[in-house]
Amino acid sequence: MSLSLIAKSIKPSPTLALNEKFAILKEKGDPVIHLGGGEPKTRIPMEAIMATVSHVNTGEVRYAPADGIPALKQAIIRYTEEYYDRKVTPQHIIASGGAKQAIMVALQAILNPQEEVIFPAPYWVSYPDMARLIGAIPVSALPEDGTFYPRLKDIEDRLGSYTKAVIINSPNNPTGAMYSEEFISDVVQFCEKKDIWLIMDDIYHRLIFDGKKIINPFKFAKKVDENSKLIVINGVSKQYAMTGFRIGWAVGNKKVIEAMSNIQGHQTSGPSVLLQKAAVGAINGIQSSVESLRVTLENNRNVMIDLLHSFEGVKVTKPDGTFYCFADFSVYNKNSNQLSAFLIDKVQVLTVPGAEFGLEGYLRLSYCGTIKDIQEGIERMKWALDPNSPNELYIGDRKLVRDWS
Ligand code: PMP
Repeated sequence: MSLSLIAKSIKPSPTLALNEKFAILKEKGDPVIHLGGGEPKTRIPMEAIMATVSHVNTGEVRYAPADGIPALKQAIIRYTEEYYDRKVTPQHIIASGGAKQAIMVALQAILNPQEEVIFPAPYWVSYPDMARLIGAIPVSALPEDGTFYPRLKDIEDRLGSYTKAVIINSPNNPTGAMYSEEFISDVVQFCEKKDIWLIMDDIYHRLIFDGKKIINPFKFAKKVDENSKLIVINGVSKQYAMTGFRIGWAVGNKKVIEAMSNIQGHQTSGPSVLLQKAAVGAINGIQSSVESLRVTLENNRNVMIDLLHSFEGVKVTKPDGTFYCFADFSVYNKNSNQLSAFLIDKVQVLTVPGAEFGLEGYLRLSYCGTIKDIQEGIERMKWALDPNSPNELYIGDRKLVRDWS
């Protein structure tokens, strides 16, 4: 079939595919445990629900402006002042259909075909395909020292005449690593010096542990005027557990925001006004749900890490934030796709193969579910992988028998 070259170069999102698989198995009544998920299960803020309901009750749900409704922009202005110590205007802001779309329109606004965008590995699954979608070239930078904490040199080494942008995601999906202030400062200044764009994907910035403090990239910027090429991305999906609302945003210079708005205006128009109202409710409402989610995730992380330490040969780096742990399972199988498929097949535990994030031999395990799921999921994995496990395992009244070695 004569599909476009770009269409042929794009893979389905592995994490979305896994969610579908989970839904199918669940529907069949299988006792499946999802340790591959990317969304907190806590209730969304009441203010978000009320704002949606009261708007829908007006019976007038119309088109929204391409770049976001004024009330959401006002809420983002306040958010930006609080977390980034920056006074911005509505022209510095675009609201999009999730942080995903905000990143996508940013890339469309700044990259030409064949130009390159660098990001540290392991990376969020969508970055490479987002670059390919516009004919640009993704360049991943695996830290040379074998850790999840890149140094400026890792980025510097990939800089070429086609480099147009860098994307930094900290705390990071899939590793949970929060990069140091020194690294963020280095990258901000490096991008300014080289006059390239820097996209800070801050979607997890409030979900951090062990008393860590939020890092504000603007603090290190020398160019704070309209020549700044720093674009900060954020959204309601993770911090407010509002993944299904699909609201994210970008803060950047007026020209780039205008270009992004023009693109979005033709692509999808503005996000649904109902969902923007919900986001206003969440951002302006009582913030206790964010802190309680953060505390829950920190506790879940501790539980997961303790359980993982009981695996012989599995290497774990303690996540600083997010709700992911990226563990090295290569002692069991160097092929993470095979290992992930084996775990679904044998013990019905869903994990995401490390290869999807640019690092083979690893699995991404999420701790955004319940403690019970974490405990049972890891126990089942251990039973399946540890050759010294007993021969049988009961899941409810189902008896599983090890027929592999
Ligand atoms: N960036 C990262 C690093 C993510 O993990 C995700 C969601 N998995 C997004 C962006 C997109 O978030 P949203 O739901 O707001 O589109």
